Formats: sequence, C-alpha cells, structure tokens
Amino acid sequence: MTDAPLLSHAAAADPNAALRPCPVCGGTGAMLFSEAAWRGFTATLPSGERRALFAATLRAEPLLSFGAMARCAGCGLLYPARLPEPQALGAFYQTYFGNPGYQKKLKGKLRQRRLQLALLKPLVRGRRFLDIGCNLGAAVAAAHRAGFAATGIDLSREAIATARTLFPGPRFLAGDLAALPADERFDLVFCTEVIEHVLDPAAFFAELTARLAPGGLLWLTTPDAGHRTARAAGMAWDQIKPPEHLPLFTRAALARLTASDYAWRVVLPNPRKPGLEMLARRR
Ligand SMILES: [Zn+2]
Repeated sequence: MTDAPLLSHAAAADPNAALRPCPVCGGTGAMLFSEAAWRGFTATLPSGERRALFAATLRAEPLLSFGAMARCAGCGLLYPARLPEPQALGAFYQTYFGNPGYQKKLKGKLRQRRLQLALLKPLVRGRRFLDIGCNLGAAVAAAHRAGFAATGIDLSREAIATARTLFPGPRFLAGDLAALPADERFDLVFCTEVIEHVLDPAAFFAELTARLAPGGLLWLTTPDAGHRTARAAGMAWDQIKPPEHLPLFTRAALARLTASDYAWRVVLPNPRKPGLEMLARRR
C-alpha cells in the first residue's frame, strides 16, 4: 500500500489541508495526532492492552489504517482522517468482537435495562421495541418482560445465536438494519455504544431515524469526546482505540444529528464515565 491519499507528502507541511471534512457537520477538521504518533504512544502501553493489540493489527493490515485523528472545529467530533476499508474492518471484528467478559456481567445488565425500561415505558406511545447492536440481548429480554414486542439486531451472528439460546421469547436478527422488513417501524429504539463503531455516522443515524415511528423515542449512548477529562487526556483517552472506535461524539455533534427530525432531545451525563446518554423524540 502506498502513502495515504489523504495525507500525501505535499500535504505533510500542512496536514490540515489533507483532512476530509467532518462527517457529521461538514466542518473543518484539525489534526489531533498522526497514526505514527499513535503507534509511538501505544508502544508505551502494557502488553495485552486492547489499544496496543489494535495498533499491532493496524501495522499488520494497511487497509485498516486511519492516517490521523482529527477534531472538528465546528462540532468537536473526533474522527479518522481516512476510513478503514469495510471488508478489512469486517475481518477485524471477526477476530476482536468476541467479548468473554460480557456474559458474566449479564445479570447486572438485565437489572439495569429493566430499570431503564420501567422509567421510559410511560413516555412511549406504542409497544414496538428495537435494540440496534443488541449484543447478547439483555435490553431486548428486559423489553420483552416489560410487555414490548421486542426485536434485537446485531452484526455478530455469534452474539445473535447466544442471545436466542439465553432468551427464547423475543425476536433476534443477525445483520444490519436492512435485515428488517422495509416498512417496519418502532416506538422505542435503543442504540447503546454502537454509533462510535460505524464508518459513516450520518448515514447510520439517518437509517436509524427512518426506523422510528412518528413520535417514537430514541435512547442512544456513546462516549463523550467533549468531556473535560477526555479533552485533558488527549491521545491517552481510553475511548480512542482505532479501528474499533472511529467517530467519537460531543454534545454538539449529537445535536447536529438530531437537528431536523426530532421534536426534542435531552442529553444526560453518564455518572460512571465520560459518556453521553441521549433521549430524543422523533417528530
Ligand atoms: Zn463537525
């Protein structure tokens, strides 16, 4: 693989000139750090650290290369200067998506999801529930128990197979949103810790919005790149881990996504970590 087209030698003196515009607001991106600096940083991390493992994968697979990480001057989004090639990213997830710790935490997750759903249920106008990126299906099982017609969808066939075994009641589908019937809409959509993984966040969010019925509620969570601890940590912020996390949002970037199709939104701070928790009502 030759040098990245977005960071050509000509642009090396002025790296900002080579950065693509912000994929959420179209604003100007300024380089936060280069991929070379990232490799140097990850070399200082203890062996076995996920970021160090991912950096080793980046070295071995140039099609995953991100070139540099940029911060949008408009909305504050952190985003890669260059996108990994989709098939290489798919192969990466075949190796890395397995999360053996998650199953142990399942009981706690179920409790947490039941509580969330009990709080949200009075605000929801219908009973059709969808969890996008449902993993092992804790939220889907909790929604099913709370009386929703619950569906979970996930790219990982392995996660879906496990979810079906653990929770025989609700519907589980492997694939992306296109795996659902074209005209199917939902009254409550969960999308937790997913949008930071996608190649094109604006396109993904538009697809998600199209799945909400008029008046439908969206519950979305993602790391907070605008949090003071995240800003202070710079490259060392633990949520920066390409190619697993690609776009990292701020409140302003989320506001931009919801500007036109939503009647209102509230963003709550995550009490446990620099994270954003958004509740929004579709027009
Ligand atoms: Zn932006």
